[in-house]
Formats: sequence, C-alpha cells, structure tokens
Amino acid sequence: MQVRDHAKTPHMQLLASFLAGAWSNGTGPRGKLVNPTTEEPVAEVSQGGHDLAGAFEHARTVGSSELASLTFAQRGALLGALAKAIHGAREELITLAIANGGNTRSDAKFDIDGGAVTLSHYAELGAKLGNAMLLGDGEPIQVGRTARMGGQHVWARRSGVAVHINAFNFPAWGTCEKLACALLAGMPVITKPATATALVTHRLAQLFEPLLPAGVLQTLIGPAGSLLDHVGPGDVVAFTGGSGTARTLRTHPKIVEHSVRLNIEADSLNAAILGRDLEIASETGALFVADVVRDMTQKSGQKCTAIRRVLVPEDKLKDACDAIRERLGGIAIGDPSREDVRMGPLATAQQRDDVRAGIARLAAVTESVHGGTGDVTPLGVPQGKGFFVGPVVRTTATPMTCAPLNEHEIFGPVTTIAPYSGDTKTAAEFIARGAGCLVSSAYSDDRDWVASFVGAAASWAGRLYLGSSKMAAQSPGPGTVLPSLMHGGPGRAGGGEELGGERGLHLYMQRCALEGDASVLKSLIGG
Ligand code: NAP
Repeated sequence: MQVRDHAKTPHMQLLASFLAGAWSNGTGPRGKLVNPTTEEPVAEVSQGGHDLAGAFEHARTVGSSELASLTFAQRGALLGALAKAIHGAREELITLAIANGGNTRSDAKFDIDGGAVTLSHYAELGAKLGNAMLLGDGEPIQVGRTARMGGQHVWARRSGVAVHINAFNFPAWGTCEKLACALLAGMPVITKPATATALVTHRLAQLFEPLLPAGVLQTLIGPAGSLLDHVGPGDVVAFTGGSGTARTLRTHPKIVEHSVRLNIEADSLNAAILGRDLEIASETGALFVADVVRDMTQKSGQKCTAIRRVLVPEDKLKDACDAIRERLGGIAIGDPSREDVRMGPLATAQQRDDVRAGIARLAAVTESVHGGTGDVTPLGVPQGKGFFVGPVVRTTATPMTCAPLNEHEIFGPVTTIAPYSGDTKTAAEFIARGAGCLVSSAYSDDRDWVASFVGAAASWAGRLYLGSSKMAAQSPGPGTVLPSLMHGGPGRAGGGEELGGERGLHLYMQRCALEGDASVLKSLIGG
C-alpha cells in the first residue's frame, strides 16, 4: 500500500474507524486502497492517530457489561440481525468486493454469503443455548467419598476484550466468523481487517453499528499500530494471516506478559491425494479434478484452504494432468466484473510479486503441466495493468524431497501434481511434509484404504475431507470452511482452532473446574 500526503486527493473516500462509540478518521499520512484489476485508487485510510487506549477502555467497561446482561439467546438474536443486514446489502457488498478484492461475482458471494451463513449458524446456536449462563463441559465427576461431593467442568464468559486481526482474502467471512463466536460467548470485539481490502469490512462496520449495543463491536481500519500494546489478562487475540506476522504476535511483550490467549490461523500447504482404486473418469475421480481446479481458480487461489500439493497413483498421472489441463483451459481470466470471466487478479501488487517469486522457486525444480510461470493476457484489462497471474500446474517426480513444494505456501492459482505408489503410508507422509495443514483431502471409494489413510494422516491436518462417490453430489469441496466444523490446523497452520459449532465459543470462554455439592453443580448448568 502506498503512503502519501492526504492533502493531494481531496475527493477520495476516507475509510473511518469505529472506536469508542464514534467514527474516527485518524490523523497523519494516508494510504491508498486500489482496484487490483485497474490499479486505480478506490479509497484511503489513515495510517494511525486513533485513540486505541480509549477503545479498549470502552470495550472493557461499556461493551463487556452490555454483553454480560444478555443471555445466549439474546446475543444470538443480535447475530441474526447482523446476518439479515448482510442479506439486505448483498449487492452493494458484492460490488465493493469486485472493486477492492479483484473478486468475480462468484468469489464475492463465497466471502459475503459465507459470513452471513456463519452468523446465522451461531444465531441458531444462541437460541438453542437459551438462558444458560454457563456451558457444561463433560459429565459430572464424583470427587468425594460419596456422590454428594462432586466436580463439574464448565465454560464461563471471559470478561476481557477479543481482538480480531484478519487476512486480506476474506474481508467479510473472516470478520463474521470470529465475530459470531466472540459475541455469542459474551466478549466485546475490536476487529481489524487487512488494510489493502478493507472496503468490504468498513461497509459491514457501518451496517452493524446501529444494530449492536454500545461497545460491543469496534472496527479499526488501517495498520495495527499500537493495538496490541493495550491487551491485558483475560483478553483474547485471534489472528489470521502469514506466519511471519504470527511470529511477531507470539512474542509480543504484552501477549507474553499477560498470557493473553492467542489463536493463530496461518499458512498451510494443503494436499489432495487420489486413492489407488479410482479412475479419473469415475464419479469420485471427477470430484477430485473439480476440487483441484476450483481451489486453484476460486478467489484466484487466495484461499487458506486451497489445494497446493497433489498426489496421484503413478499410472493415473497422465490422465489427471490431462483432465486438469482441459478444465483450466476453459477458464477465462480478466476483469472480474465481466460475466464471462471466471478468475480475476490477485488482491495486491505484493501478493502478485510473492506468488511470482514462489512460482520461480518451483519452476527451478519442477516441470510445467499447464500455464508455464503464470504469464497471462487478461480479458478486458488495459495493457500492463492489474495484478494478474494465470493458473499454473507444475509436476515433479520427487514430491517428498521437493523443498519449494513442501516448505513455501504460494498464495495464488498454483498447484503441483506428482506421482506416488498409491499406498496410504506414503500419502500420509506427504501430508506430514507440509508440517501441519488446515485441511487435506483424499479421494477413494475403498473403505479400507480410507481407514488406513485417516489413521496415519489425521495428526497433520485440522480437517480431513474424504471424497467418495457416496457424497460427491452434495460435496462443498475441501476449500469451504463450515461453521459446524473446526477450522485450524497444527504446526505451520498456526496451531489454532476456530468454529466447530459450540467449540468455537471456547476460545472466548474460560474453562473452570467447579467443586462442591453435586446438586448445586447440576443446577448451575441447568440440570
Ligand atoms: P499478513 O500480512 O500476515 O496480515 C494479516 C493481518 O495482520 C492484517 O490485518 C495485517 O494488517 C495485520 N498485521 C500485520 N502486521 C501486524 C502487526 N505487527 N501487529 C498486528 N497486526 C499486524 O497476511 P495477509 O497478507 O493479509 O494474508 C496472507 C496470509 O494469510 C497467507 O499466508 C495465508 O496463508 C494466511 N491466511 C490464513 C488463513 C487461515 O485461516 N489459516 C486464512 C486466510 C489467509 P495490515 O493489512 O494493516 O498490514
């Protein structure tokens, strides 16, 4: 993002932050948000000058007590209202996502509808939890000589502030999935979108503000600045972004000093494995090809869950490459506002440069299957403009030892396909080479193969997607994060956990072991 003196473009929209109950323009130099298709500026943000200490104070006092006075059902009703507000402004939000995110209409819907669906899911959960004040965790435990002396684990509302720091690629969904869990759990939120694509989140903040009690949601638009200097005991920081930034957060003095709960969703080298029982032409083989191609092209491959590494049995490699090449050949790349375009640009110039550097590293040790090194002439775009990289498929005969494949996430429309023997041990070992994934997938109609694979691979992925002919017709694909299933992964993926239905609330609650009269404990959790 470029920084310059704000006096020079008086007509550009300045995206204000909503902090301590008021809209704050900030001060100092301004950065420019651009349309990644045309490189034209679309809005400006201040680089700082906000009262962040005041925002934390407002959340800790006003926001926290507002939420403390509400039941789960009442907080759920608020989330339902937010989902409705998104539905009401859907077309406007789609337009903003196309202009600032390089999204096709379909990409924009994936982000925006995903946000609304997640809010609705947690609204329903709130209604189900009703008037409870505590959530039970496991069964009552006899800890005394008789059943009268009992123990019970519970989850209780945390009284601090939830700080949400999001990545550039899902300005709506990323904001909503964190917000839904924190608000339902009862924590006020200060949310910060990635600056480069903040237009959609800024609009959401405007839509949500009149619908929520004071202090419950504050939105910082622009760089984090001293945001984390204000966190204290009882607060939660939930971060989504790159592993380099994650490292900075893990060692932040205030996070270390106060043992602030930190959830990290970071890079991931997700793998897809084709089982040895399948032909590419089979129903499950077709599902595999469709999932690989969708993950390469949806949001131009800028999904944390996208398939980056693919293994297929050696005798199926040619068929798989042919099928993927054929599908990719039919995808029009260019101005995402055009109806005939299926894939737009990357979101920022930095992303384009990072992706090109990643392709160059891969190209030095792999061969091209499709797209060479990503050069493309986009449809309907002025020559030389836009942050475009075409879909790239590479192949290697040595996937296990290919460092650029297994050590660097290329956050764009790039995948590498390689042969293997078809055995589950090698498949699981390949997943492990990613050093921790958000999701990985296996496609097979052989239940014994699947059972052996899951046993060997599950410790290296937060989610395993098992593609088969029985579920092919209703599959959302591995790249879709569902509110009912956990999102997160070990190792490189950050070690975090979000969503997963009621589990998603636990990040924002304190587990407490209660000891006492068993009948009192039972009554506390509504038994
Ligand atoms: P990023 O550069 O790490 O930025 C992520 C967020 O952190 C942005 O809001 C950024 O703000 C903020 N930030 C940067 N430095 C900070 C600091 N010192 N203190 C506090 N906040 C700071 O990542 P990105 O480029 O937006 O996203 C790309 C990466 O995110 C990819 O590597 C991808 O793997 C990962 N990702 C992971 C998931 C997941 O669920 N695991 C989902 C999506 C993306 P500014 O924008 O203002 O700099």
